[in-house]
Amino acid sequence: MIPTLGYAAPDRSSPLAPWRFERRDPGPRDVRIQILFCGVCHSDLHFVRGEWGEVPYPAVPGHEIIGRVVAVGDAVTRHAVGDTVGVGCLVDSCRRCASCGDGLEQYCENGHTQTYGGVEQQTGRPTMGGYSGEIVVDERFVLRIPDGMDLAATAPLLCAGITTYSPLREWKVGPGSRVGVVGLGGLGHMAVKLAAAMGAHVTLFTTSPEKGEDARRLGASDVIVSRDAEAMRAAEGTLDVILDTVSASHDLEPLLAALKRDGTLVLLGGAPTPHSSPSAFSFITRRKRMAGSLIGGLPETQEMLDFCGRHNITADVEVIPVQKVNEAYERMERSDVRYRFVIDIASLRGEGQPA
Ligand code: NAP
Ligand code: ZN
Ligand code: ZN
Repeated sequence: MIPTLGYAAPDRSSPLAPWRFERRDPGPRDVRIQILFCGVCHSDLHFVRGEWGEVPYPAVPGHEIIGRVVAVGDAVTRHAVGDTVGVGCLVDSCRRCASCGDGLEQYCENGHTQTYGGVEQQTGRPTMGGYSGEIVVDERFVLRIPDGMDLAATAPLLCAGITTYSPLREWKVGPGSRVGVVGLGGLGHMAVKLAAAMGAHVTLFTTSPEKGEDARRLGASDVIVSRDAEAMRAAEGTLDVILDTVSASHDLEPLLAALKRDGTLVLLGGAPTPHSSPSAFSFITRRKRMAGSLIGGLPETQEMLDFCGRHNITADVEVIPVQKVNEAYERMERSDVRYRFVIDIASLRGEGQPA
């Protein structure tokens, strides 16, 4: 077993604090990774606070992981010691079902294993995430990071990047598409950058008027303050697809109204309480749809990383030491993040993580 130091939530209301635990010894197909950076996703906050259901405390969150390979099992062929790699939201899946066969491990019919909050198939213990010094992962769930990328700014691609890239591809966004993005946080700012890089015209809906200038710099052509009813009315019938990244329940009607005929509102945010349900007429009138999308499978995550490498796309990040993660959560709750916190895991070594 590998002794590891992490930052864990002891229960749903106490701050995260240092906690020692053990990683499994690497098996023949495992990659042992020294973690360098880990992004702070709003899902981490929903999870540790118990907003999505029961949590096996103590719980170490974090699923936007960048690290360096320090050892590989005998049968590993995809990665070598010294490689810079990424781990996202998934560390395992059944590999036999139709979804796994299609490279859509996030929809595994027998239940995938999430990087934290899951059960490690090899040991039967709860999985622990990336706010920690090391991780051991099956090579199939380890991603290659293109050369030359800023590693702290690349970490958020592993969740915020793929969660927004996947629906943009699924809804065939390209030149001429008119895309809406709701919420300029971690996911939202990646959605703006990626949709703009795909050639789309991007409209941002925000509750924070002061983010408008940033949104334009990130690639949005239009910025609409969603609490401005008149501006929302002016946007009616203009968009092909809207990615809704909001982390709390809100009114969907004005967003559905912004869709063109055959347009789709894609829900990405994991609001712990239901949105008010829209009227049938919100869909009937222009044959509109509402859908959801969960992160992305391993092949598409690699495709997204390679796309970002080619287009020079990373996240806008505020790098913090792990000791500031509780403050980062408070700021994220106030939508005060520009636009992703990323933990520099070197700060853990100051607390006694073996080098
Ligand atoms: P985040 O950085 O906190 O951004 C969320 C943004 O939503 C905020 O910056 C804010 O943007 C807007 N917002 C927050 N509260 C709002 C409210 N009450 N009404 C309207 N707008 C509000 O969060 P994130 O990390 O991007 O994650 C967003 C959501 O996606 C979370 O629920 C997360 O769990 C979920 N998620 C889902 C997946 C998936 O696979 N589907 C993957 C990752 C994360 P403005 O200031 O611009 O209004
Ligand atoms: Zn996430
Ligand atoms: Zn499966």
